Amino acid sequence: MTDCLFCRIVAGEVPATVVAQTDRTLAFRDVAPQAPTHVLVVPREHHADAAACADADPALLGELLAAATDVARAEGLTGGYRLLTNTGPDAGQTVHHLHVHVLGGRPLGGLG
Ligand code: 5GP
Ligand code: ZN
Repeated sequence: MTDCLFCRIVAGEVPATVVAQTDRTLAFRDVAPQAPTHVLVVPREHHADAAACADADPALLGELLAAATDVARAEGLTGGYRLLTNTGPDAGQTVHHLHVHVLGGRPLGGLG
Protein backbone atom coordinates (compact mmCIF):
# COMPACT_ATOMS: atom_id res chain seq x y z
CA MET A 1 0.00 0.00 0.00
CA THR A 2 1.30 3.47 -0.87
CA ASP A 3 1.83 6.06 1.84
CA CYS A 4 1.01 8.90 -0.59
CA LEU A 5 -2.22 10.51 0.62
CA PHE A 6 -3.44 11.59 -2.82
CA CYS A 7 -2.61 8.21 -4.38
CA ARG A 8 -4.79 6.73 -1.64
CA ILE A 9 -7.61 9.18 -2.45
CA VAL A 10 -7.31 8.27 -6.14
CA ALA A 11 -7.48 4.58 -5.16
CA GLY A 12 -10.58 5.21 -3.04
CA GLU A 13 -8.77 4.14 0.15
CA VAL A 14 -9.19 7.58 1.74
CA PRO A 15 -12.56 9.29 1.37
CA ALA A 16 -12.86 12.59 -0.48
CA THR A 17 -15.64 14.67 -1.97
CA VAL A 18 -15.03 14.14 -5.67
CA VAL A 19 -16.44 16.85 -7.93
CA ALA A 20 -15.07 15.80 -11.34
CA GLN A 21 -12.90 13.21 -12.99
CA THR A 22 -11.33 12.30 -16.31
CA ASP A 23 -9.44 9.20 -17.33
CA ARG A 24 -6.22 10.82 -16.06
CA THR A 25 -7.31 13.35 -13.42
CA LEU A 26 -9.42 13.54 -10.27
CA ALA A 27 -10.86 16.68 -8.64
CA PHE A 28 -11.99 16.74 -5.01
CA ARG A 29 -12.71 19.37 -2.36
CA ASP A 30 -9.88 20.48 -0.09
CA VAL A 31 -10.45 19.29 3.48
CA ALA A 32 -9.48 22.74 4.84
CA PRO A 33 -10.95 25.19 2.33
CA GLN A 34 -9.32 28.63 2.08
CA ALA A 35 -12.13 30.07 -0.07
CA PRO A 36 -15.81 29.25 -0.78
CA THR A 37 -14.58 27.05 -3.64
CA HIS A 38 -11.36 25.19 -2.92
CA VAL A 39 -10.87 22.13 -5.08
CA LEU A 40 -7.71 20.11 -5.68
CA VAL A 41 -7.10 18.62 -9.13
CA VAL A 42 -4.59 15.77 -9.22
CA PRO A 43 -3.26 13.38 -11.83
CA ARG A 44 -4.28 9.79 -11.11
CA GLU A 45 -0.66 8.81 -11.69
CA HIS A 46 1.82 9.79 -9.01
CA HIS A 47 4.13 12.73 -9.82
CA ALA A 48 5.74 14.48 -6.87
CA ASP A 49 5.32 17.99 -8.23
CA ALA A 50 4.93 20.05 -11.41
CA ALA A 51 8.61 19.74 -12.32
CA ALA A 52 8.56 15.95 -12.05
CA CYS A 53 5.43 15.81 -14.19
CA ALA A 54 6.94 18.19 -16.76
CA ASP A 55 9.90 15.83 -17.08
CA ALA A 56 7.88 12.62 -17.24
CA ASP A 57 4.66 13.60 -19.04
CA PRO A 58 4.30 17.30 -19.97
CA ALA A 59 0.98 16.75 -21.73
CA LEU A 60 -0.50 15.70 -18.40
CA LEU A 61 0.17 19.21 -17.05
CA GLY A 62 -2.06 20.57 -19.81
CA GLU A 63 -4.77 18.05 -18.98
CA LEU A 64 -4.57 19.05 -15.33
CA LEU A 65 -5.02 22.75 -16.14
CA ALA A 66 -7.84 21.99 -18.54
CA ALA A 67 -9.55 19.90 -15.84
CA ALA A 68 -9.06 22.76 -13.36
CA THR A 69 -10.75 25.28 -15.67
CA ASP A 70 -13.63 22.82 -16.15
CA VAL A 71 -14.02 22.68 -12.36
CA ALA A 72 -14.01 26.49 -12.13
CA ARG A 73 -16.72 26.66 -14.80
CA ALA A 74 -18.81 23.97 -13.10
CA GLU A 75 -18.45 25.78 -9.76
CA GLY A 76 -19.79 28.96 -11.39
CA LEU A 77 -16.70 31.06 -10.69
CA THR A 78 -17.70 33.75 -13.17
CA GLY A 79 -15.96 36.47 -11.14
CA GLY A 80 -12.59 34.81 -11.62
CA TYR A 81 -10.48 32.31 -9.75
CA ARG A 82 -6.93 31.29 -8.97
CA LEU A 83 -5.10 28.15 -10.07
CA LEU A 84 -1.94 27.41 -8.15
CA THR A 85 0.43 24.56 -7.56
CA ASN A 86 2.95 24.71 -4.74
CA THR A 87 6.31 23.17 -5.62
CA GLY A 88 8.88 22.46 -2.94
CA PRO A 89 9.54 23.75 0.57
CA ASP A 90 9.76 27.49 -0.17
CA ALA A 91 6.24 27.31 -1.61
CA GLY A 92 5.01 25.35 1.40
CA GLN A 93 4.12 22.17 -0.49
CA THR A 94 2.82 19.72 2.10
CA VAL A 95 1.49 16.86 -0.04
CA HIS A 96 4.08 15.55 -2.45
CA HIS A 97 1.68 14.43 -5.14
CA LEU A 98 1.15 17.11 -7.79
CA HIS A 99 -2.07 19.04 -7.27
CA VAL A 100 -3.58 22.24 -8.67
CA HIS A 101 -5.62 24.30 -6.22
CA VAL A 102 -8.76 25.88 -7.69
CA LEU A 103 -9.67 28.82 -5.46
CA GLY A 104 -12.58 31.20 -5.92
CA GLY A 105 -15.89 32.51 -4.73
CA ARG A 106 -14.49 35.62 -3.04
CA PRO A 107 -11.92 38.31 -3.89
CA LEU A 108 -8.62 36.51 -3.35
CA GLY A 109 -6.27 39.45 -2.81
CA GLY A 110 -2.56 39.32 -3.57
CA LEU A 111 -0.29 36.34 -3.32
CA GLY A 112 1.10 37.61 -0.02
P1 5GP B 1 -0.13 22.04 -0.50
O1 5GP B 1 0.15 22.79 0.77
O2 5GP B 1 0.73 20.79 -0.62
O3 5GP B 1 -0.09 22.88 -1.74
O4 5GP B 1 -1.64 21.60 -0.41
C1 5GP B 1 -2.09 20.44 0.20
C2 5GP B 1 -3.57 20.61 0.43
O5 5GP B 1 -4.11 19.33 0.72
C3 5GP B 1 -3.93 21.54 1.59
O6 5GP B 1 -4.72 22.61 1.11
C4 5GP B 1 -4.69 20.63 2.54
O7 5GP B 1 -5.77 21.27 3.19
C5 5GP B 1 -5.15 19.50 1.64
N1 5GP B 1 -5.32 18.23 2.30
C6 5GP B 1 -4.47 17.67 3.22
N2 5GP B 1 -4.95 16.47 3.61
C7 5GP B 1 -6.11 16.27 2.93
C8 5GP B 1 -7.06 15.20 2.92
O8 5GP B 1 -6.94 14.19 3.61
N3 5GP B 1 -8.14 15.35 2.11
C9 5GP B 1 -8.33 16.46 1.33
N4 5GP B 1 -9.43 16.50 0.56
N5 5GP B 1 -7.44 17.48 1.31
C10 5GP B 1 -6.35 17.39 2.10
ZN1 ZN C 1 0.78 9.99 -5.05
